[in-house]
Amino acid sequence: MKLAKDDTKYPFETARNLFFEAIAHMSDEFTSHQKEALRDGFVDAYPTEGKRTGAYSSGFYGFHPYILLNHDDTLDAVFTLAHEAGHSAHTIFSNENQPMPTSDYTIFVAEIASTFNEHILLDYLLKKATTKNQKIDLLEKAIDGIMATFFRQTLFATYEYEANQLVEKGVPITEQSLSKIMIDLYKHYYDLDITEENGKQFVWAYIPHLFYTPFYVYQYSTSYSASLKIYDNVKTNQPNAMENFIGLLKSGGSDFPVNQAAKAGADLTNKETFMAVIKRFNSLIDQLEKVLEEK
Ligand SMILES: [Zn+2]
Repeated sequence: MKLAKDDTKYPFETARNLFFEAIAHMSDEFTSHQKEALRDGFVDAYPTEGKRTGAYSSGFYGFHPYILLNHDDTLDAVFTLAHEAGHSAHTIFSNENQPMPTSDYTIFVAEIASTFNEHILLDYLLKKATTKNQKIDLLEKAIDGIMATFFRQTLFATYEYEANQLVEKGVPITEQSLSKIMIDLYKHYYDLDITEENGKQFVWAYIPHLFYTPFYVYQYSTSYSASLKIYDNVKTNQPNAMENFIGLLKSGGSDFPVNQAAKAGADLTNKETFMAVIKRFNSLIDQLEKVLEEK
């Protein structure tokens, strides 16, 4: 159940300008590349007949990347725009600084570039929000986002690991054994008994990542943690935080992703990086509680 619903409309031009305002205080190198990413002619913004759904950025070495959106003027669409701009800007940075063989980057670093933009946008919109409804809507969306990206994906990654262990141990794989892992994990993570909800224990059967793209889902949690840690470094004015982040964008696929993240200020072998998400989560909950108390 939503605590509030804000119906503000954000047409594409408004959304793009909002994002540009949000990043205005970042370094010139960063903002100019984000603007380049969203330059006219490189974004197919609105749905049209026969157009595929979803959103993505598509890049090729030696060419300016293109963005496909299905902008529907909602708040979500503004975040999608910021996210995809992050991917295209990353491609531009990488193409400018890497030779072709190392220009292609992994998903692991790609989602750091994109979710970083979402963090900037959220803080900007929270600062700019004037009505109680707007603030609640934003905060709720952000909290739900962390639940879905960080906690839920970590649960699924653990699920995948445990399901694979059944095979290693030679335990027969049955619908019951696969569901049991899910039931136990939901109990452990959320103290929820999912057998009370019809069909919920079969959630493993409708997440294609789990069987088509092995060990993909954990990357949502790790990339998200890394981008929040880097964003926190920038926000709290840690020395060279922004330069180091831009260094990651420029480094394309020239190093192992964990090294790239570490050089950018997010050491994923260190618990502190993951704590950046908990810190953000607590701050959002505190802000939400405060807004709910406002008259
Ligand atoms: Zn993405």
